[in-house]
Amino acid sequence: MDNDTFRKNAHQFVDWMADYMENIESYPVKSKVQPGEVKSRVPDSAPQWGEEMDTIFKDFENIIMPGISHWQHPGWFAYFPANSSPESVLAEMLTAGLGVQGMIWDTSPSATELEEVMMRWLRDMLGLPGDFTGVIQDTASTATLCALLSARERITHFNINEKGFQQTLRVYTSSQTHSSIEKGVKIAGFGRENLVLIDTDDRFAMNPKALEQAIRKDLDQGLIPCCVAATLGTTSSLAMDPLDAIGPICQKHKIWLHVDAAFAGTAAIAPEHREFMKGVHHADSFVFNPHKWMLTNFDCSAYFVKQPDILRRTFSILPEYLKTRADDQVNNYRDWGIQLGRRFRALKLWFVIRSRGVEGIRHMVREHIRLAQWFADQVKDHKDFELTAPTSLTLVCFRHVRPGLGEDELTTLNRTLLERINASGEVYLTHTVLNGKYSLRMSVAQRNTLQRHVENAWQITREIAREIEDQAGDTTL
Ligand SMILES: *Cc1c(COP(=O)(O)O)cnc(C)c1O
Repeated sequence: MDNDTFRKNAHQFVDWMADYMENIESYPVKSKVQPGEVKSRVPDSAPQWGEEMDTIFKDFENIIMPGISHWQHPGWFAYFPANSSPESVLAEMLTAGLGVQGMIWDTSPSATELEEVMMRWLRDMLGLPGDFTGVIQDTASTATLCALLSARERITHFNINEKGFQQTLRVYTSSQTHSSIEKGVKIAGFGRENLVLIDTDDRFAMNPKALEQAIRKDLDQGLIPCCVAATLGTTSSLAMDPLDAIGPICQKHKIWLHVDAAFAGTAAIAPEHREFMKGVHHADSFVFNPHKWMLTNFDCSAYFVKQPDILRRTFSILPEYLKTRADDQVNNYRDWGIQLGRRFRALKLWFVIRSRGVEGIRHMVREHIRLAQWFADQVKDHKDFELTAPTSLTLVCFRHVRPGLGEDELTTLNRTLLERINASGEVYLTHTVLNGKYSLRMSVAQRNTLQRHVENAWQITREIAREIEDQAGDTTL
């Protein structure tokens, strides 16, 4: 493609993106395509000769767009958000334009040095301890794997890197934890059987007494406690494991404490919502995702460690061809994680944080929490609905109830309710199971979500629940 064509298309695409952002509410939030539909419309083999950009773009609109679920839609209440922002999109365009690969300082000093500064900004914005040092990873899953590998190496004096596993190391996490912990345990070679699931309390948070008991039992059997993976903001119900009780247990037994705050971490930017971080100074590592709730395009995961030398020793490799004269004066982030090649992700953070300011991001966080609380209040006050977990920050777990129905019938009822809500195209919710109760998850953290969208979600939920009730009434008559 010549430069003039690039310029022309780029302008058109930016216009298209601006229109998309403006009209986002006209799209059905959850894609309505059937499995295989998109695939069937893309040719089986690559074109032999280049095609015009206009033709390619038409296919993007006709084939790809119908198969898109609109994460930036204000009716996105599913899972957790993956919020972008105009600022972040602009920075991503520049990043793509530069096409930089920042594996070492020499390959683009700005990529490395801006990342160092952004990690300090983020650390201070969240009120994390000053002795934490950060690095950007692609995802929280990767950061957690790095934590497990570091924990493994610290406790064996870097011997597993040399010799492989000689002993049985144990990892502890709550039964509510994210699947990435189990995945990391498998990949890092601990073996899934050595992942110990700790019971939770009535708020779905890890029970520290049960943790201590599990550790003692393992010690009695000659097993080696290696790592505790605590969660701030579990996926099911946004439960917070009590770090101030878990931390001292880890310290006493010299166990690595990893904290997964992938979604909820952003809340700490508002000091009055920081309570859940109490005890975070005990952590050896901590991860949260600016790509979820901090307006930064996927992917961008902020990973903090107390002892970067352990991280570097775990991953360091130094083939001759990567040695440079600057090595003793600079950071080479290739040694701070799994991959060698690194995207220049710090740029979008810089754009987002500068454009919004800390106060701007704080305001967004406070609004989302307020709106979720509003929704929870409606549920609490309505006789046909109940909360199925304590409302935490931005997540409301609830279900529709009807007198006389058993657990199985309530599950069927709420599953139907969820399907019909999502078929409306106006809102998208997902589900979980809490204490055996099939529950709807209303996650209020999309950047475009306003009061009216949350009110609309509540209205649709009530209307559809009533419709289902009426239909059930008809069939029994
Ligand atoms: C979203 C989430 C993850 C996974 O994040 P990725 O960046 O997609 O790997 C892990 N843990 C928690 C608690 C999460 O909310």
